[in-house]
Amino acid sequence: MLTSEQLKTLLSEPKRIVITTHYKPDGDALGSSLGLFYWLKAHKHDVSLIVPSDFPAFLDWLPGLEHVRIYTREVQENQQLIADAEIIFCLDFNGLGRIHDMAIPVEKATGLKCMIDHHLEPQGFHDYAYWDPKAAATAQLIFRFITEEMQDEGNISADMATCLYTGIMTDTGSFRFRSTTSEIHRIIASLIDCGAENWAIHESIYNSSSEGRLKFLGYCLLNRLEVFPEYNTAMIYVTQEDLKSFEVITGDTEGLVNYALSIKGIRLAALIIDRTEQIKLSLRSIGDVPCNEICKIYFNGGGHLNASGGNSHDDLQTVIDTFKSALPNYKEILTK
Ligand code: 5GP
Repeated sequence: MLTSEQLKTLLSEPKRIVITTHYKPDGDALGSSLGLFYWLKAHKHDVSLIVPSDFPAFLDWLPGLEHVRIYTREVQENQQLIADAEIIFCLDFNGLGRIHDMAIPVEKATGLKCMIDHHLEPQGFHDYAYWDPKAAATAQLIFRFITEEMQDEGNISADMATCLYTGIMTDTGSFRFRSTTSEIHRIIASLIDCGAENWAIHESIYNSSSEGRLKFLGYCLLNRLEVFPEYNTAMIYVTQEDLKSFEVITGDTEGLVNYALSIKGIRLAALIIDRTEQIKLSLRSIGDVPCNEICKIYFNGGGHLNASGGNSHDDLQTVIDTFKSALPNYKEILTK
């Protein structure tokens, strides 16, 4: 396993580098990847940022997006870049399954795989790890990686700061989750000093809904929300027809699960979406209710204690029934 010191030596000469992150990148995945992209570019590396899929429209203002390559849009060229890379940075995921079609090319590639991540239970595909499951965001780890591991404190540009701020802000729910430590606030203060315009970033992310997205939200709250008071649990489900009739695009369902969690007394919230290719499940919880365990046991997934995801190839009703049938097993923890 490579040490940070050895990686720092390797990075002292220009290298061919690929950065990648997980399928359907969120604010932290894209923000941390672009932050690292800018830093590596500033050090004269030849860097390609390749993501496995499209990303939410509310991130389409991020600086540097013009450099992002979507794997499935130019498969051959992207495979060549991955095969030719001397170093592959894998950000915000720790199992190759999370990069979907890119998993095989990345697994086969001979470049050094450097994982920077904050999810539990890394699956061990990497040659270097900067991993901290207590970190709130991968963007926080990129800040630390650059300033502490690579000892390059004075080199954070305004664009880089904007991307890292976005990653931390989105993964901490705007600095309100339990993971928001004093270290997070110190990093955020540094990023503002480096040129991140905090008010403008909040505006771009949170005040960018389309009218359709808001109507979809209203529809879900009115028609698709179910509460199970005996388990302090709430669930929102979305059918394929809902997705079609509201012309839902990537990112439109982001944050929906938090409405279910915002009901007083609710300790577990689920969002279950019937995407054509599979059912996608998001869980959020309060306190010690283990979303990650539920996702792992029942839905082929994982994540953090209070925020996890999973998927299933069963039909929507079966997934809903499976979720409901899991609740009695957690009754004690849900009702204490
Ligand atoms: P979300 O519900 O926003 O998709 O994901 C919440 C958290 O769970 C994120 O940290 C994400 O990385 C993780 N997660 C989401 N889907 C999966 C999955 O299918 N497998 C695993 N292992 N983690 C997931």
